[in-house]
Amino acid sequence: MLVIDQANYDKIVAHARADHPDEACGVVAGPAGSDRPERFIPMANAERSPTFFRFDSQEQFRVWREMDDRDEEPVVIYHSHTATEAYPSRTDIAYASEPQAHYVLVSTRECGNEEGPVEFRSFRIVDGVVTEEEVRVVPSYTDPEPATDPEPATDPEPATDPEPATDPDPDIAAGPDSALEPDSAPEPDRAS
Ligand SMILES: [Zn+2]
Repeated sequence: MLVIDQANYDKIVAHARADHPDEACGVVAGPAGSDRPERFIPMANAERSPTFFRFDSQEQFRVWREMDDRDEEPVVIYHSHTATEAYPSRTDIAYASEPQAHYVLVSTRECGNEEGPVEFRSFRIVDGVVTEEEVRVVPSYTDPEPATDPEPATDPEPATDPEPATDPDPDIAAGPDSALEPDSAPEPDRAS
């Protein structure tokens, strides 16, 4: 399964729309071993073609070396199809050389440069075998923080303390005062 944050998802789709009808391509790098696409790197399609993409070899060398320097890897390798479905072509499969990467395909065949429906699919390509995987778009990569769990437990305690303390006071104060004064005052008046 590919888990990708909304911001990077939107950047990939925006790049695909902008370059339509040519295919757009790039990577989203992430810390090595994290499987978390974080750093969006749009790249040039050296072919400038509506039916094919190829990274510019010099740019690819530079981008890959930069990832090495930062201890990153290409978590997502994306490109767009502009007239066909978002599924790897034979050429895509032949060129796929990163077995740990998520190969994302976006199809802009319906929307073109405009807003509109986009296909966004992800695949593993290992030894020429294509396996589609689920894509989950998350608002952000917030790790589950156990620090937030204890907080609700402390909230009920202060809430229960004031209640017993304030409840008896008004009852005692209002009860005897109002009950004694009117009762004792009218009685002597009526009697006399
Ligand atoms: Zn393709």
